[in-house]
Amino acid sequence: MTEDDPNPIHYGGQSVDEADIEAVVEVLESDWLTTGPKVETFEEAFAEAVDAEEAVALANGTAALHAAMRAANVGQDDDVLVPTMTFAASANAALFEGATPILTDVRPGTLLADPERVLEAVTPETEAVVAVDYTGQPSDYAALREICADHDLTLVADACHALGGRLNGDPVGSLADLNAFSFHPVKNMTTGEGGMVTTDDPDLAEVMRVFRNHGITSDHRDRAERGSWYYEMEDLGYNYRLSDIHCALGLTQLEKLPGFVERRRQIAATYDQALDDVPGIEPLEVRDDAAHAYHLYVVRVREDEAGLDRDALFDRLRDHDIHANVHYIPVHLHPHYRNRLGTGPGDHPVAEEAYDEILSLPIHPCLEPSQVERVTATLAKVVPAATTPPP
Ligand SMILES: *Cc1c(COP(=O)(O)O)cnc(C)c1O
Repeated sequence: MTEDDPNPIHYGGQSVDEADIEAVVEVLESDWLTTGPKVETFEEAFAEAVDAEEAVALANGTAALHAAMRAANVGQDDDVLVPTMTFAASANAALFEGATPILTDVRPGTLLADPERVLEAVTPETEAVVAVDYTGQPSDYAALREICADHDLTLVADACHALGGRLNGDPVGSLADLNAFSFHPVKNMTTGEGGMVTTDDPDLAEVMRVFRNHGITSDHRDRAERGSWYYEMEDLGYNYRLSDIHCALGLTQLEKLPGFVERRRQIAATYDQALDDVPGIEPLEVRDDAAHAYHLYVVRVREDEAGLDRDALFDRLRDHDIHANVHYIPVHLHPHYRNRLGTGPGDHPVAEEAYDEILSLPIHPCLEPSQVERVTATLAKVVPAATTPPP
C-alpha cells in the first residue's frame, strides 16, 4: 500500500478468523443457542485469564455496569462517584438503579480519575466509586482502594478499555471489587455484543446471575436438568443474558487476546516514536506501574505548538481517509446530565480543557504496518509545525 491508498483507516475494528467462525457454527449446530454450556466455559476461562474468582457474562458492557451497580447495592439516595472523562454508560448505570452519579475531574497527564477530586466528593450519601481505565491504562487503584476502604464504599472498575492491561503485574479484572468489561467489536476482544463482570465475591456474582435472568433464581437449563417447571422471581431483573453463540466467539477470541494486546502495544510504540518529531501532538502520559492495554491511542493537539487545532487536524486526517475520533465529550456536558443534574461548563476544568485537544488515532490489531506508517507520514505532512523548518 502507498500513501495514496484509498482505503479508509478506521480508529478501531475487530479481528475475526476462521477459528472464530468455526466455533460459532459449532454452537449453531448444537442443542443450546443460549444459556448452554458455553456460557460457563467462557466465564471460567475469563475469570482465570484476569485472576478473578468469578466472572458473570452479560449482554453488553452497559449491562455489565448496570449489574455491577445492582451488586454494589446502590439505589435511591445513594451517590456514585464517576470520572467525567468517559463514555456516558459509566455514569448512566448509576441512574438505571435510581442513584445519582457525581462526576469528578481527572488528572491532566493521564485523564484518569484524580483521587484527590474523588476524596473531596465523598459524602455520607456516597455508596460506590467507579474507576474508568480510560484508553486502557489502569486507574490509580492503590489510592482509590484506600479511599473506598476508609469510607466503606464499593469500588467498581469500568475496565471496558483495559482488558489485557496490568497494574504492578496484577491483571485488570482483579483490581476492584467489581470489574466491568465490554466485547463490542472495537474493544480489545469481541463477541459482537457482550460484557462481563469479574469479582472475588461469590455472593455478588450470584446477585448478578439472578439479575441478568429477570431476577429468577434458576435458569432454563437448571430446570431442564432437574425435570421441574417451578421457578420464582425474587427481585426485579432484566434479560441481560449472553448467548452460547456469543460465548463460543468469546472463547476463541480470549485465546488470541494476548496477541491482540501485543499488536496494540507495538502500534502505540510506533506512534510514540514518530510523534517525537511532530511538535504539538502529544501522547497522554503512561505511568511506570501500568502495562497499558491501548484500547485507544489518544493524543493532545496543542494548537500553539502544532500550528493547528484538534478540529483542523481531524478534518485534515479525514481528507487523507484516516478516520480519527474523539473520546470523549465529558459526561457533565451532555444535555441529559445538564438538564437532570444541573451540571455544565466550568464544573471540571481539566477534563474540559482536554476535551478541546484530544484525538484518538487509529489503533486495532488488523492495522497493517503500512497503514500505521500512512498515519505517521500523514501527521508529518499535515501538522504545520512538523513541516515548517525551525528558523
Ligand atoms: C464500550 C464502553 C462501555 C459500554 O459497553 P457496550 O458493550 O457498548 O455496552 C462502557 N464504558 C466504556 C468506558 C466503554 O468504552
